[in-house]
Amino acid sequence: MSSRQKYKALIPVTPQEQLIQELYGRIDAAADRELGRLRREAGVVSSCKRGCCSCCGQHIQTNPAEAHALGQYIKRTFSVQQIGGLQRRTRQWFAWDSGRRKEDPPADRSSGLELFGYEPCCPLLVDRACSAYPVRPVICRTHYVSSDPAACRPSHDHRPVEHAPVALTSILDATQPLSQLLRAEIEGAGLDFCRSIMLLPHWLAVEMGWEFAEDE
Ligand code: SF4
Ligand code: SF4
Repeated sequence: MSSRQKYKALIPVTPQEQLIQELYGRIDAAADRELGRLRREAGVVSSCKRGCCSCCGQHIQTNPAEAHALGQYIKRTFSVQQIGGLQRRTRQWFAWDSGRRKEDPPADRSSGLELFGYEPCCPLLVDRACSAYPVRPVICRTHYVSSDPAACRPSHDHRPVEHAPVALTSILDATQPLSQLLRAEIEGAGLDFCRSIMLLPHWLAVEMGWEFAEDE
């Protein structure tokens, strides 16, 4: 066993991580059941599939419990090169976010390619796929649409769309009781759930111990 493998083996599965993983399994099962019901009873089929990823350019919010599970997964399963790539993409995201907040209005809101020649998306997106798929946050696990994927746009793309995306909101309803258990876990730790929410790259930097200057 290499020293790197030994190091990874030393990263224990924490009780909170285990709880999140169990919840994710139950949320996925509830979402699958609802997708099946929609197909059978209403003939509605989700358009979402692997490689379709405009939604990963949305502002993805998450909380400390999910961020903890994500950080543990990354530390345990990513190679040194993968972590380096993730750190670089997260740094790019911070630079874009910092510039976005300073520019009022942004230099060019007409296309996806804005500041720094960087098309902002979730730093975990690699080759149009989620590199942390097993531990992607609830917001990613429960977002499905039945509309044309072309209607899905990243948050920074403000061009008008002919038709707005049609979200399958009944999946949110079906998974809501389980999402509430997640909230209870966070509140049980003495945190204010709403105030604990941050954009995913911010939590990622916290979990990985990366400090990016505001004006990078
Ligand atoms: S939400 Fe839209 S962009 Fe995301 S996978 Fe589904 S169809 Fe594709
Ligand atoms: S965590 Fe994964 S699924 Fe969610 S936005 Fe990021 S790349 Fe996409």
